[in-house]
Amino acid sequence: MNKKITAAPAALLAVLLFILAACTADTNHNGGTTMNTAKDTTAEAVSENAAASPVDALLDRITVNEQSSIRIAADKIIYIDPFRLPDAPHDADLIFITHAHYDHFSPEDIEKIRRDDTVFVVPESMTADVKKIGVEDADIVALAPGSSAEILGFPVETVAAYNTNKQFHPKKNGWLGYILTVDSARVYIAGDTDDTEEARAVKCDIAMLPIGGTYTMTAEEARELAKALAPKAAIPTHYGTVVGKEADYDVFADSMANVVKKIQFGKY
Ligand SMILES: [Zn+2]
Repeated sequence: MNKKITAAPAALLAVLLFILAACTADTNHNGGTTMNTAKDTTAEAVSENAAASPVDALLDRITVNEQSSIRIAADKIIYIDPFRLPDAPHDADLIFITHAHYDHFSPEDIEKIRRDDTVFVVPESMTADVKKIGVEDADIVALAPGSSAEILGFPVETVAAYNTNKQFHPKKNGWLGYILTVDSARVYIAGDTDDTEEARAVKCDIAMLPIGGTYTMTAEEARELAKALAPKAAIPTHYGTVVGKEADYDVFADSMANVVKKIQFGKY
């Protein structure tokens, strides 16, 4: 009898202790999370102060000489749409081409950077174009929009690049933007595109967007896309020479905190 009476409060006590323990654990968990967040923030701040975050470090190794002619000096040397290059370093491990227009697919500039073993990544619809300039089948990776691959160790995803309110870049051509993962940062190179649903779906740390209008989205449209993508850094391209004005940069950067200017006008 006594045993039963003591057993009931003991069980109740056990339940209460369990609830208390659970609550305490929860409190600890939340506290721990907060502390970790604070610690992470501090660590990030320290690393930013000391040198650079991974994205900042990568930003330092991205150059845009003109238009959408991009070079990324990672473990491998990567070019995207080389155009009007000032030098001929023949240092390309990888050349990405977004589409067939002369300011993106420039055989003359490709000759300045390619080597015997350079790998070309192109839209499927451009396979014949790169073969025509002497690239062998084994060195061509031809991709459709919305696909993914790992190329020389770099994860690559493709994004359809096309116009929605003009005719220069029809969707049916299968032309591309690329998302390259370099040093764990996702870099979106949009190609010649408007603000499409595919572009809006991109998750990236660095967004490189055309802003010059006429053939692509305007600076205002690109700014809206950039705000939706909310990357850690946005780099405007495709303005100031072939199309668009240098001042488009200011329109794009207006009310944006994370815009990085890469094209230095008058340098080349
Ligand atoms: Zn184009």
